[in-house]
Amino acid sequence: MKFHILTLFPAMFDGPLTESILRRAVESGLVEFSLHNIRDHAVDRHHTTDDAPYGGGAGMVMKVEPLVACIEAVREKSSVVRVILTTPRGKPLDQQLARELAREEELVIICGRYEGVDERVRELTGAEEVSLGDFVLTGGEIAAMAIVDAVSRLVPGVLGSEESAEADSFSDGLLEYPQYTRPAEFRGLQVPEVLLSGNHLEIARWRRRRAVEKTFRERPDLLATAHLSAEDRKYLEELAEAIQR
Ligand code: SAM
Repeated sequence: MKFHILTLFPAMFDGPLTESILRRAVESGLVEFSLHNIRDHAVDRHHTTDDAPYGGGAGMVMKVEPLVACIEAVREKSSVVRVILTTPRGKPLDQQLARELAREEELVIICGRYEGVDERVRELTGAEEVSLGDFVLTGGEIAAMAIVDAVSRLVPGVLGSEESAEADSFSDGLLEYPQYTRPAEFRGLQVPEVLLSGNHLEIARWRRRRAVEKTFRERPDLLATAHLSAEDRKYLEELAEAIQR
């Protein structure tokens, strides 16, 4: 999968794309990154990429011409279909969207700056607006890194074992169960006995219950769409009753 990242600050990506799992994914040819400096597509001799907002108000707005020229240049040389515009006004990034994007061969991600991007960029390029959440970052670069990271790890072969992504939070609509590793006891805190038992059926049951419980306590909104068994539902009833007592 190839990511085209459109940014005014390409150097910001040096670390995140060149370490750990993403570095390995690039080395093994599963993922490719192409950083495009929006300033290279500015149309005036001062390489201007922003201007004051029509109608007045604080800050600057990213100009339409350099961004559209940059996207058109990418599209001319690639099979890109989807363009993502990072913005707090967008659809929130979730695991379902990450899975969907991981099926694309190429993807363009636009990093906004200042007060954002001229609305005509979205209209002319069909860009989909995606948000990291209900907060405002200084620029779209960190949002793009988060999208790239979440999507890349779902590209087949990028993670060491396919199981790692399958058991993750949100993969079946629930938050993940708690994880432990050695030592079995630390400062008086014991790893739950069942995890040391070797009884895989009991371990799976314990993990499922902890996942249901964690989701019930932290993100009850997820339960409406989670894949729940009859046993999960019964356990949820017990949890709800325990709270009322
Ligand atoms: N004035 C804009 C607004 O209120 O919606 C915020 C602009 S923000 C300071 C500059 C850029 O950071 C945005 O164009 C976008 O690319 C990025 N950004 C900020 N918050 C974001 C979020 N929650 N999700 C995705 N991108 C975000």
